[in-house]
Amino acid sequence: MNILIIEDEYSLADAVAETLKSENFNVCIKTNGEDGEDEALTENYDLILLDVMLPGKNGFDILKYLRQEKIKTPVIMLTAKSEIDDKLNGLEHGADDYITKPFAMRELMARIKAVLKRTNNIEDTNCLEYGDLVLDLKNAKLKCKDNEIQISGKELELLEQLLLNKNQILSKESLIERIWGYESDAEYNSVEVYITFIRRKLKLIESKVNIKAVRGIGYKLEEKNDK
Ligand code: CA
Repeated sequence: MNILIIEDEYSLADAVAETLKSENFNVCIKTNGEDGEDEALTENYDLILLDVMLPGKNGFDILKYLRQEKIKTPVIMLTAKSEIDDKLNGLEHGADDYITKPFAMRELMARIKAVLKRTNNIEDTNCLEYGDLVLDLKNAKLKCKDNEIQISGKELELLEQLLLNKNQILSKESLIERIWGYESDAEYNSVEVYITFIRRKLKLIESKVNIKAVRGIGYKLEEKNDK
């Protein structure tokens, strides 16, 4: 995945680039508007992070031009706090999202992933793995070596959460919040029921991965050892 950063604040651009590289993205930085626009026109990118106040050409004009030229690369605008109309302005000109400076890297990464997911560009990395287990989110399949089985709905979401947090114990409460939402009146036994379904599927595809119940705390993935 290639990301273009158009930002004239070197330290910020560098910090963002470092974070992105640590998550296996390829990054290109342009520090003025005209170079940034030229680079964006190559269409070599999966996403563009675009500052508003730039030397050469400002972010809104760049965005407007890109959309005029039918460049559909998703754009997240980096806007300063004082520029209160930036959000509207940006979204009006075809930005996919915006983030206000200063921002936390975690927040930016979450926005980037959400936009990539929404624009379907994250498909090739849409598998989660643990031990001999592969969860193919795109095709809703659970795989172990040559065996595979369909998994969807709450089962898929639950297993996805366990895989995304494979080194920690997830409480039933937090699973309900993540999957059914804060307002939900889903009960603890709904979680238990789905866990049972998933365990059955893990067994069917002969995976060594199991969902361990940690009494009084929650659930965690574990790999059974033959030895
Ligand atoms: Ca700037």
